[in-house]
Amino acid sequence: MRDGFVIKEGIACAPAIVFINTPLHVEKTKITAAETAGEIALYHDAREKTRLYLENEMRKTESEDAREFMETSVMFLMDPYVEKQITELISQDLFSAESAIHHCYNSFVQELLDNHDPFIMHNEYEIRNLAEHIIMTLKRKRPPIPEITGDCIFVANNLTPAQLLTVDNSHIKGVILEDGNTNSHMAIVLRSLNIPTIFNVENASVIIKNGMNILMDAYANKIYLNPLEELIWSVKKHVRERIESGNSNIVDPLIARYKTTRTGERIEVLANIGSLAEIQDLKKYPSSGIGLFRTEFLFMNHTSDPTEEEQFGCYRKIMESLPDRFAVTFRTFDFSADKLPLYLSKPVHYNYTTGTDEDNLLLRDIITTQLRALMRASAFGHQMRIMFPMAAEYEDFVHLMNIYQESRESLLREGVRPGRIKIGVMIETPAAAIMSESLAGLVDFFSIGTNDLTRYTETCSREFATRHNNDLSPAVVRLIALASENAQKAGIPVSICGEVVHEQKYLPLLYALGIRSFSVAPFYLSSMLYAIHTLDVRIPREFQERIRSLRTRQDVIDLSANLLKSPLPVKNP
Ligand code: PEP
Ligand code: MG
Repeated sequence: MRDGFVIKEGIACAPAIVFINTPLHVEKTKITAAETAGEIALYHDAREKTRLYLENEMRKTESEDAREFMETSVMFLMDPYVEKQITELISQDLFSAESAIHHCYNSFVQELLDNHDPFIMHNEYEIRNLAEHIIMTLKRKRPPIPEITGDCIFVANNLTPAQLLTVDNSHIKGVILEDGNTNSHMAIVLRSLNIPTIFNVENASVIIKNGMNILMDAYANKIYLNPLEELIWSVKKHVRERIESGNSNIVDPLIARYKTTRTGERIEVLANIGSLAEIQDLKKYPSSGIGLFRTEFLFMNHTSDPTEEEQFGCYRKIMESLPDRFAVTFRTFDFSADKLPLYLSKPVHYNYTTGTDEDNLLLRDIITTQLRALMRASAFGHQMRIMFPMAAEYEDFVHLMNIYQESRESLLREGVRPGRIKIGVMIETPAAAIMSESLAGLVDFFSIGTNDLTRYTETCSREFATRHNNDLSPAVVRLIALASENAQKAGIPVSICGEVVHEQKYLPLLYALGIRSFSVAPFYLSSMLYAIHTLDVRIPREFQERIRSLRTRQDVIDLSANLLKSPLPVKNP
C-alpha cells in the first residue's frame, strides 16, 4: 500500500470499518411503515432549506442567466408532481427520504432527456446537483458515519470534522484517509482526540475491506493488513523502544517542565483544544494556559443553535475546571464549510464589509449570544481572553469590537459584571497581517493562525492540498514578521497557534521574529517545552535582509536551522 503521511503518531490494531464518503452515495435503504412520517418530514425540511438557500443565492447573483437558472431550480424543487412522486415512494414503496429523492430526480432527468427537453439538455448537471444538495442537507440530520459499536480503525476516502464529531468516536482507535492535509480541520480534530492517523493513503477504502484486521504504526507510517500475532508484538516492542530511547515526539512530561529557553528567557507554551475532555488531558501535560479554544467544536451535534444559557453553562464549567492562574483564549465560533454544526446550513462569514445583509445579521446574532455567554462566564476563572477569527478588513474588526462593546454594556445594564477579559484578533488572512499596524490599536493581543494564513496567501486548499502545504512559504514568513513587528511596536503580545508550530524546525525562526508565545495540540506540549528549553538562537545583524531575500520554502527551513547555535535535540517524525 502506498505510504501516506502521518497526522498523529501512535499505534493501533483493530478491525476496519470502511466508509465511502461521497455526496451522491445514496444507500438504497428501505424503511418501515412506522418511519414514513419521519422520512417525509425530513424531505420537507431539507427541501425548505434548499429553497431558502437558492433564494438567497438568487438575491446575491448579478448574472441574469444564473438568476433564471435558480428560479427554474426553485420551480423544480417545489413542483407538486415531484413532491407527490417522492412522498409516494416513501409512503408506499418504503424508500428512505434520500433514496426517494435520488430515484425521483434521476428518473425525472432521464425522462426529460429521452424527450430531448431543451432545458434539461443544458442543465442536466445542475439539476442532478440540486438533488445532491437536498440529499446533503438531509444527510446532516442523520448519523453521518456508520454506527460504531466496538474498537475499530476507521478507513474512508474522506471525512469532515462535523461527521466525526457527531458520532461516538471513543471506539475509533485509528484513522486512515485517502486524502487530507496536515493542517486541515480534520487533522486538527484527530490530533486533539489523540487518534493515530495516516492521511493520503491511496485507494485505502478500496484495498481495505470491512472487518479486516489492521495494524497501523503511525510512528513509522506503516499499515499492515491482517497482521500475524508476531508482527503485532514486534511492532509494539519497536515502538516502546523508540519512546524509551527518546527517538520520538513523546517526551516524559516530568522532564519537560521547563518554561524558559536555554538562556533563561520566559516563553509561553499554550494548548490548542476544542472540548471539555481535553481539559482533563491538559493535566497530564505541562502548559501555561489555553492559547486557542476552538469553540465551534463544542456544539457540533446540537440540532438547534445553543442558547445563551446553554453556552454560559458550558463556558462556566470550562472556566471552573481550569487549574489556578490558567488563562484561556476562547475563539468565537468559526463555522467554515467543514465545521458546520447540524443546526446551520451554511458557513458564517466574518467579512462584515463585503457580507450580505442576511450574512451580517446571522453573524451579529451568533456572536452577540456567544459574547454575552462568554462574558458572563468570565467571572468564574482567572483570566479569559476572547478572540475573533477570519475577519479581513479593518472595518470588519471595528464591527466586531462594536458588537463586543454593545454586548458588554447590555450586560452591565443588567447588573452582570464580567471578569478580567482581554480581547484579541486572529491574524489569519493576508489582509489582517497587512493591516496589523492599525489593528494593533484596537485590541489587546494578536494570535497568528498560520493554517488559514497559508491557505489565503498561497491560494491553496486547506483540506486537499499536499503535505507541503504545512511548510512556511517566504510570503507567509513576511506576513508573520509584519504582524509580529506591529504587535511589538504597539506593545501588545503576539502568539502563534497554527499547526506549523509543532513542526519544531520553525521554532528558531519564529523566535527570531519576536514570537514568545506558542500554542499547540496538547500532545505536543511536552516536546515543545523541551525544545524551547534547549533553544539557543543567534539572530544575525542582517536578519531583516535575510528575511527579504527568502525565495523558496527550503530557504525558510535553512534560515531557521542556521539561526541555531546548536541543533534541537527532539526530532519530529
Ligand atoms: C489557523 O487558521 O491557523 C487556526 C489556528 O485556526 P483553525 O485551524 O481553527 O482554522
Ligand atoms: Mg483558522
